[in-house]
Amino acid sequence: MANCTYCGQTAGILKKAHKECKQQHEQGKSEILVLVSDAGLKDTDLQQLQTQIEQIATACYINKNLLSDLITSGWEKAVEFVIAANQFTVEEERALDKLKHHFSLSEEKLNKNGIPAKLSAHKQNHGKSKISSLVSEAGSKGGDLQQLEDQIKQIQTECLIDEGTLRELVVSGWEKVVVDIFNDGIVTAQEENVLNELKQHFALAEEKLDRNGAYTQLVKGCVLRDILNRNLPERIKIDGILPFNLQKTEKLVWVFQNVDYYEEKTRTQYVGGSQGVGIRIAKGVYYRVGAFKGERQQTSEIAHADRGLMGVTNKHLYFVGATKRFRIAYNKIVAFEPFEGGIGVQRDAATAKPQSFVTNDDWFTYNLIVNLAQM
Ligand SMILES: [Zn+2]
Repeated sequence: MANCTYCGQTAGILKKAHKECKQQHEQGKSEILVLVSDAGLKDTDLQQLQTQIEQIATACYINKNLLSDLITSGWEKAVEFVIAANQFTVEEERALDKLKHHFSLSEEKLNKNGIPAKLSAHKQNHGKSKISSLVSEAGSKGGDLQQLEDQIKQIQTECLIDEGTLRELVVSGWEKVVVDIFNDGIVTAQEENVLNELKQHFALAEEKLDRNGAYTQLVKGCVLRDILNRNLPERIKIDGILPFNLQKTEKLVWVFQNVDYYEEKTRTQYVGGSQGVGIRIAKGVYYRVGAFKGERQQTSEIAHADRGLMGVTNKHLYFVGATKRFRIAYNKIVAFEPFEGGIGVQRDAATAKPQSFVTNDDWFTYNLIVNLAQM
């Protein structure tokens, strides 16, 4: 005969515990766990919670040590929930803190499973994505930038984010806005202004913003918008002297570097071009980023002729390479052919060979030249 390990009464031959007692014990454990973890997620009267779980503990043969372990596990469960849900609200943070202090949970005990470390990593990540989205939001909708700065500084402090990481987050938030804008269509004057204000407020360096090409992309988008609005863009800064002999009233709009120039002996066939994929805006033609999927058929008829600078003005295309130097007037071009990586042109002279230019930015090259030619 043995006594039940729970109630202490006779349990019967070869039995350590009553089935009912064991059941009650297990149920009490899970009830306490649920109550405590809930209290770690929302504001709870902890004095009342304590009374409640102590009553359950007494009724379910849960001793003091086990109860203390259960409270620790409940706290850990709440943290795991917060991490799994990929969130961390102020209410949750407060509730977890309060719970820890009310029951004087020992750091040593909590650290055993590494949960506090996971929580601070989670808090930091959460703070980082919060900062990114605040910056992106301000960069797309505009807003009070001083307020934004205060907000992100506060998150920085709370989440122990270092200065370098913070700068990085602001830059990537800015970059994300540019990507979103170009997925969506052309950059508007308002979008440009908001991005410029953000850049100025946080003193973001152009080289930093251009590390993945976002800054150049924005400028290109603005150039295209100018042209579609029938304004001649003046957005490029030239260091040094360019080898193009411009006419008096001619304005340089863009210069492409390292352009591969190809000459063809026969008319090139283009496969699966982008015609019709784009959206029309105002008077111009505008193809979206990613609309260019057509490839040139590679035949022996196409020869790489040179590599050099391509200047684009309001009147001509200029090319200056090591051996080939020429300009083509837009009014002499009968057809433009977009292809992945560049543009092909066909002049109207009977003897003219098809010519093509690989700039590695088909979207911009095609939109730029076709719309300038129509100006
Ligand atoms: Zn019993």
